[in-house]
Amino acid sequence: MDKYYHPNDSLIAEYAKGTISPGLGLLVSAHIKQCEECFFKVENLSAREAQSLKEAQGESPINLDEAFDTLMGEIDEIVEPTLQEEVNPVQTLHVKGQEFTLPLGLTFALEKPVNWKEFGKKSCIAPVMETERGNLYFIYLGPGEEIPNHDHEAVEYSYVVQGCYESQGHFLSTGTFSQFNNGEQHSPRAVSDDGCLVVSWVEKRLNFFTGVFSPLNKLLWWYLHKA
Ligand SMILES: [Zn+2]
Repeated sequence: MDKYYHPNDSLIAEYAKGTISPGLGLLVSAHIKQCEECFFKVENLSAREAQSLKEAQGESPINLDEAFDTLMGEIDEIVEPTLQEEVNPVQTLHVKGQEFTLPLGLTFALEKPVNWKEFGKKSCIAPVMETERGNLYFIYLGPGEEIPNHDHEAVEYSYVVQGCYESQGHFLSTGTFSQFNNGEQHSPRAVSDDGCLVVSWVEKRLNFFTGVFSPLNKLLWWYLHKA
């Protein structure tokens, strides 16, 4: 099923229009760099958006070219051009003796120390971005380890940075984007030898109701989000 591997069409449309939540947009952006099919869907929609903008421009007296030139002129006045060496952002994330290369859109997370919280024997989770609409997390699952069975109050989206995990019979490997809906239960388990690094966008807190987390729901939430 597609929902385990690609963003659905409404997410693609939100992304192309730029109305998607920023954290979720980062996951879609990382996926389309890996997936030709979704890349072309975004390209087509963006071209259509541009076309309707052009048509709207025909109906209104605003000259977009002129407006752009004016804006760029204003920016030139404010920003002194400086010669800068091109800096390659740090893309490497180290966790539990493993090394992962992050998509460029996620390298901002390495500008400060990653606040890992351990669980299981070799797994850990770290909040990366917290917003009113949802939160972004890095989740590292050690080889063979799993996240306790949980369901969702809202949708959870995940992008596999590197490795492979299994969820309800589906094998999700590097570059896949998946969506788990409210009410849906799952217990993702890493199946790759070096474990699996996933980045997840969660719209509301998860309900852990089996395993060690079950009585600790609120405590866990507090623990993960404390500074
Ligand atoms: Zn895709």
